Amino acid sequence: MNSVSVEQIEALLPQTQCQKCGYKGCKPYAQAISQQQADINQCPPGGQQGILNLAKLLAVAATPLNTQFGIEKPRQVAVIIEQDCIGCTQCLPPCPVDAIIGASKQMHTVLTSACTGCELCVSPCPVDCIVMQAIENNDKPAEWNKEKADLAKNSYAKKIIRMERLKTEKMQRIKKQKLALKKIKS
Ligand code: SF4
Ligand code: SF4
Ligand code: SF4
Repeated sequence: MNSVSVEQIEALLPQTQCQKCGYKGCKPYAQAISQQQADINQCPPGGQQGILNLAKLLAVAATPLNTQFGIEKPRQVAVIIEQDCIGCTQCLPPCPVDAIIGASKQMHTVLTSACTGCELCVSPCPVDCIVMQAIENNDKPAEWNKEKADLAKNSYAKKIIRMERLKTEKMQRIKKQKLALKKIKS
């Protein structure tokens, strides 16, 4: 295997952040490939072309996509059947790129231009009102490209930073509450 950086490997991944490879996003998968802990054929959105690109970069043999991780299929986007949405907000946290807009007890909607088609919002919906739809015509966002991949990568990075900040703030709040309780008891 050629000595290449994680960044070089990551640059060849689609950035849908779908986790189908078994890792929590494209970067962790790139890191696993770099450390020879993962095979290069685990990314269904990248498909056979993605495997060929990785094989060339790493100077290893290309293998068929491992279908245990999913199959290659045309790009889809999520659509919320709005009249069925109960506004539970459960689809918001799983979306890696914040492509869903909505608030508690309000109808939610997907920003199709931002949706990576990762499908991570589908199963958390308790009323099954999120469906994946193939891109069929020019009214829908075009096929996946480098511009969209870069946008998704940045959005995911921002979401991770925000989630980390919220986690830290929550921990600090709990710590303060515990200290306050301790003072009351003493
Ligand atoms: S697109 Fe999905 S399967 Fe491919 S590397 Fe990124 S997270 Fe993994
Ligand atoms: S809306 Fe759903 S399918 Fe689209 S990016 Fe967000 S979680 Fe993935
Ligand atoms: S999970 Fe389903 S019901 Fe809940 S807000 Fe999202 S789309 Fe609406």
